[in-house]
Amino acid sequence: MFLHPSLFLMSQISGFCLKCKTYGPIKDGKMIKMNNGRTRVGGFCSQPGCTGKISKIVS
Ligand SMILES: [Zn+2]
Repeated sequence: MFLHPSLFLMSQISGFCLKCKTYGPIKDGKMIKMNNGRTRVGGFCSQPGCTGKISKIVS
């Protein structure tokens, strides 16, 4: 019995928000496959009131 890999990653991934200069969890993260075969998670900053986007390469 395994967790779905993307769900597992989603709950763990944090990134650095360039807008509020805070490191925190990525909200509404989505896995995005890039042209070079790597995967990144794109989402939004979880800080209240911040609308910054966070993107992080995960594999
Ligand atoms: Zn932010």
